[in-house]
Amino acid sequence: MTTNKNNLTTSWGAPVGDNQNSMTAGSRGPTLIQDVHLLEKLAHFNRERVPERVVHAKGAGAHGYFEVTNDVSAYTKAVFLSEVGKRTPLFVRFSTVAGENGSADTVRDPRGFAVKFYTEEGNYDLVGNNTPVFFIRDAIKFPDFIHTQKRDPRTHLKNPTAVWDFWSLSPESLHQVSILMSDRGIPATLRHMHGFGSHTFKWVNAEGDGVWVKYHFKTEQGVKNLAPDVAAKIAGENPDYHTEDLFNAIEKGDLPSWKLYVQIMPLEDADTYRFDPFDVTKVWSQKDYPLIEVGRMVLDRNPENYFAEVEQATFSPGTLVPGIDVSPDKMLQGRLFAYSDAHRYRVGANHQALPINRPRSEVKNYQRDGQMRFDDNGGRSVYYEPNSFSGPTESHENKQAAYPVSGVADSVAYDHNNHYTQAGDLYRLLNEDERTRLVANIVEAMKPVEKEEIKLRQIQHFYKADPDYGKRIADGLGLSVPQQVK
Ligand code: NDP
Repeated sequence: MTTNKNNLTTSWGAPVGDNQNSMTAGSRGPTLIQDVHLLEKLAHFNRERVPERVVHAKGAGAHGYFEVTNDVSAYTKAVFLSEVGKRTPLFVRFSTVAGENGSADTVRDPRGFAVKFYTEEGNYDLVGNNTPVFFIRDAIKFPDFIHTQKRDPRTHLKNPTAVWDFWSLSPESLHQVSILMSDRGIPATLRHMHGFGSHTFKWVNAEGDGVWVKYHFKTEQGVKNLAPDVAAKIAGENPDYHTEDLFNAIEKGDLPSWKLYVQIMPLEDADTYRFDPFDVTKVWSQKDYPLIEVGRMVLDRNPENYFAEVEQATFSPGTLVPGIDVSPDKMLQGRLFAYSDAHRYRVGANHQALPINRPRSEVKNYQRDGQMRFDDNGGRSVYYEPNSFSGPTESHENKQAAYPVSGVADSVAYDHNNHYTQAGDLYRLLNEDERTRLVANIVEAMKPVEKEEIKLRQIQHFYKADPDYGKRIADGLGLSVPQQVK
């Protein structure tokens, strides 16, 4: 009898005779190449890792649901948002940005906040961060920016000189740098932070009318942060602190939740608003565009398998459903390419068909073949369009909403260069203790910068945001604010 319900098998399903002793010529060896089970086992082991994400490599994920709590159908025809009480299953992946897959959780870094809604019209991915803005506003700068956040090619160490050199020469980063260096730069847990879509998107209603929209997930656990010394201690003692906290909370039924709000801007305001609303280094003041409640997200189930669900989850800001379109935000436009491209490289051309990524709605198209095509590859159905065999057809009502564009094709910066007002607004919004900690965090982070010229350039940016902000950082570094900005 060779089969038994609990037989260990090869990947081809044959029972394995010995999984503890390799086959050798005589008891002392050498090992025989004819031990094909050994060969398969070692070869598969060598291939256990897929390339880790260049950014957002360390992540934690959970399943949950979204429930609509307010009628927003006047703004979007997205079916999953169409009526109060409607629930949609989802999967969330939180992450740090710069560290490797095994790096510590409690570091000062933005957190990725990526949500995959499995709607009946296909998946909708909202791939944001725990910060409302970003460091740069044009995707062409992203590889350089990330190089400064990762390891120095010579020393394989983090390089604060590169970090501050880039930021000081890219003053659009000032607002996000200020958020990162504030208390909220190290969340207490993944449950105690907000999430933001960060970019501007467009919602379109059933009549075809559009509005610009920004997303805010507000934590129902309250915002809590870690002091840098506590975070450093935890990073040494338990580098997986956030991952463990999320898993344990869900496991014991302490389910984390967030309220989703949007800010809605009429399309025509984009031409006259005092900041370019598509510039992802800026927020829209909530005094101008108040938060409108949409619904509630609850995480209620841990993954069964980390690799299958969290590592293989693929999110892209270009994964959209009817009623939700993109905006001209240049950072978003670049991400529309970069995210899916990363997943094609990292997970494969058919990554959308993996169980964690597969839409819960039916997928019908003319894409065929490719590596790891593990479904029926469309079977015998028609594989080209147009065709006379009743293949799936396009639905024009689901086209992205048309909108006029004009201009000269050229490589140009945003024409709006006030990088200082909103960073200063943030500084002025903080209480005295928060300001003191913000300044101390920045001073500590800038101390190792090797060139004084870089420190002085960056101090000018802080000074332009708020003279008190700049002066206190200069004092902390034992430098003076350069004359030309005073
Ligand atoms: P508002 O007073 O209308 O909004 C202030 C926002 O700041 C709220 O979203 C608040 O959300 C958040 N906030 C409060 N305390 C802190 C803190 N210590 N660190 C970071 N964020 C905090 O003012 P404006 O909309 O005019 O924005 C003023 C500044 O607030 C901006 O320059 C920006 O830096 C910051 N901000 C603005 C956001 C926006 O969407 N407008 C979003 C987040 C920050 P909460 O108390 O729930 O955290």
